[in-house]
Amino acid sequence: MVLSDLGRKLNAALSSLNRVSIVDEKVLDTLLKEVCAALLESDVNVKLVSQLRQKVRIKVKAVFESGGEKAKEANKKNLIQKAVFDELVSLVDPGVEPYKPKKGYPNVIMAVGLQACGTLLPGNGKTTTCTKLAVHYQKRGYKASIVCADTFRAGAFDQTRQSATKAKVAYFGSYTETDPVAIAAQGVAKFKKEKFEVIIVDTSGRHKQESELFEEMIQIGHAVKPDMTVLILDASIGQSAEAQSRAFKESADFGAIIVTKMDGHAKGGGAISAVAATKTPIIFLGTGEHLTDLDRFSPQPFISKLLGLGDVQGLMEHMQDLATQNPDRQKEMAKKLEEGKLSIRDWREQIQNVMNLGPISKIASMIPGLPQDLLQGSDEEGALRMKRMIYITDSMSSMELDSDGTVFMESAKDGKPIGLTWRVSRVARGSGTTVREVEELLCQYRMMANMAKQAGGKNGWLQAMQKIQ
Ligand code: GDP
Repeated sequence: MVLSDLGRKLNAALSSLNRVSIVDEKVLDTLLKEVCAALLESDVNVKLVSQLRQKVRIKVKAVFESGGEKAKEANKKNLIQKAVFDELVSLVDPGVEPYKPKKGYPNVIMAVGLQACGTLLPGNGKTTTCTKLAVHYQKRGYKASIVCADTFRAGAFDQTRQSATKAKVAYFGSYTETDPVAIAAQGVAKFKKEKFEVIIVDTSGRHKQESELFEEMIQIGHAVKPDMTVLILDASIGQSAEAQSRAFKESADFGAIIVTKMDGHAKGGGAISAVAATKTPIIFLGTGEHLTDLDRFSPQPFISKLLGLGDVQGLMEHMQDLATQNPDRQKEMAKKLEEGKLSIRDWREQIQNVMNLGPISKIASMIPGLPQDLLQGSDEEGALRMKRMIYITDSMSSMELDSDGTVFMESAKDGKPIGLTWRVSRVARGSGTTVREVEELLCQYRMMANMAKQAGGKNGWLQAMQKIQ
């Protein structure tokens, strides 16, 4: 069962509570049965599932029996939903903080992956994930690079070269050197000298047995002294992630895990909970083949998003990333917003910022309260809609862009708007759109500016923009 199905089932089980008037033990049992069945279908270990059931039951029963304020029907529902939520969070919470790369310092991250000996199955996504990681840090203002020390797989260096070039990330590798330890050491030394802040070392591993892989990891580790070693695991291994995660934890001092292919595999929930059980931090989840399909992992936001409750923390992180890239501009924008002085030009800049944050559905799924169905399959449409908005503003003159939109309105003597000026049809013609689209854009801009003004503060504009999409 892919993760979105798991989320839907858990959500359905929890929402069913809202339809009953009396919450008794039978209702609790039915709900727990549905929650547990969904988790088992996602390959979560039977023991972990039964522990979750036990813990929720103990928490809830204690309050039911207390007979206090919390034991009233309405409160009982909240109590059960909260208890299930909390236990789902602890199911995926390794309880350990991972290493956080520091700015202005050469953070060396070594990536290792495991593939059964001689298998013809596709890789677990290690090389792709290395580039995704570099892109992630680069977007957040780190100078990032990749060293390809995977000398076993013939095409590995070419693959790194292609994806790194596409992502505009610096890379290092060799077609002739066969010693992975030598390449790793050379690459890291070069990038350290060039003051790179994130140096990702991609190691081989496909042909290795577990013990040999960890031996090679230790050798490269001695040569490059990583600040963090990351094990890349494919979600399809489900519960087996526990054994690999445990062995890895014993070999790496500063180890963290990335679970890839969470978008397509039935066993994703099993893999995450199995890793969490070994108390190894999970730092990211791979959620697709694109270079931006890498989601930072954090237990509570993960469960919140899974249940369709949004991920405000993730959204704020995105916003902070934007702010750190250009702090002065964001401060200026926040001030303009508070004063209600946002021009069309400023608005266009914010649309472009949202487009840079990632696929629309990913950003939208972080906003609490949006129906999940609305988000599916709408990326291209959303991106196209935003692009057309940019085309429209591209056809505006400087004076129009710096205005608050009133120049497009014909006003009566008393100042009341009575229609649109010739400017609207000119912009429509120039941008290859329709008068109606330009009208809509101006209307959305006004709504957004009003809402943002009301919301005030730094990120009001984003909330406002999401409301009108
Ligand atoms: P490696 O052999 O471990 O280095 O694996 P690769 O990076 O070559 O990836 C193997 C395949 O998995 C490629 O087709 C990738 O596009 C694909 N892949 C990697 N990560 C993900 C992911 O998160 N989701 C999906 N659907 N595919 C992925």
